Amino acid sequence: MELNCLSPDIFIHTDTLEEVMCPIGTGVLNDPVVLPCQHRFCKSCITAWLSQNSVCPTCRREVSKQELRPDDGVWKIVCSFKVKCAHPACGWQGRLADRELHLQKQCEFTELICEFGCGSKFLRKELESHKKSCELAPVVCKFCGKTVKKAKLGEHEAECPEAVVECPNKCGSRLARRKLEDHISEDCKEARIPCKYATSGCKFKGSKKSVAEHYAASLEKHLEQEHSVLKVALEKIQGLTVQCQTLASRQTELERRLTASKERRPPPAAAAVSGAKPSAASRRHPQGAHPRQQQQQSRPARQAPAPAPAPAPAPVVPAENQEDLEGGDICKQQ
Ligand SMILES: [Zn+2]
Ligand SMILES: [Zn+2]
Ligand SMILES: [Zn+2]
Ligand SMILES: [Zn+2]
Ligand SMILES: [Zn+2]
Ligand SMILES: [Zn+2]
Ligand SMILES: [Zn+2]
Repeated sequence: MELNCLSPDIFIHTDTLEEVMCPIGTGVLNDPVVLPCQHRFCKSCITAWLSQNSVCPTCRREVSKQELRPDDGVWKIVCSFKVKCAHPACGWQGRLADRELHLQKQCEFTELICEFGCGSKFLRKELESHKKSCELAPVVCKFCGKTVKKAKLGEHEAECPEAVVECPNKCGSRLARRKLEDHISEDCKEARIPCKYATSGCKFKGSKKSVAEHYAASLEKHLEQEHSVLKVALEKIQGLTVQCQTLASRQTELERRLTASKERRPPPAAAAVSGAKPSAASRRHPQGAHPRQQQQQSRPARQAPAPAPAPAPAPVVPAENQEDLEGGDICKQQ
């Protein structure tokens, strides 16, 4: 049997309760109903009773569940009675009608369970302090405005693009993390940049200011470095020039030999007159071929006359000697 009469202890003025006591339980009528015999009971008390009995518990008259009627008048009276909060430490007093609301929404002594899912239980009056300490409470990143769990805030701030950070070069700048890269490559006075002669082997790196000083102080060193780079390049060029010359003279020699072998062969015209088989070239271009083709056939390249044999290289006269010779001439003229 489930009884849920109201405890008389919660009422401030117990002397008025006699009229509204539930005959089944031992408390005050809670959500009362009335039977045709005019006897009143809590709704849940009489429902439980009638599931095992079929008579009024007070007058024993036969009755069924269908005959129960809500007693709004009596319930209104009970609801207007002054009551205390369920928690002895709470000083709240008010109408019974407002008591449930007080417990659900206001009472500082109602036990709550953390809404963020950390599993903690605490009194409502401890809610704010729990929110501050709860690791799962949402907090707002002061840099980007995103909401993150308190436990993850440090992790977030370490990556937040809007978080203000100090320039790692110790230039004194404080700026949003997303601007740091541009700052270091463009504005940072302390960013270490390489010497512009790094390609010539200078290893110096430093701030803009110290690189400028380095340029002024290392003029000679840089010239020497550049010079040795140029020297190496020049040696390479000289080596390549010699290779070019060797290849050019080989080409001249091959051309000379080719011409000589052509000269030993009889000319194609003579072959045609003597009734010899036409060459592949003359078969492809019979008489009456397109004038342009004829023109092509008669290009000097095809029947080029033998060029004069390459002249023997002139003996190399050192420039100084040449000057001497010329100077000598001038002397003679004078
Ligand atoms: Zn009852
Ligand atoms: Zn009755
Ligand atoms: Zn309370
Ligand atoms: Zn919590
Ligand atoms: Zn952020
Ligand atoms: Zn900086
Ligand atoms: Zn340098």
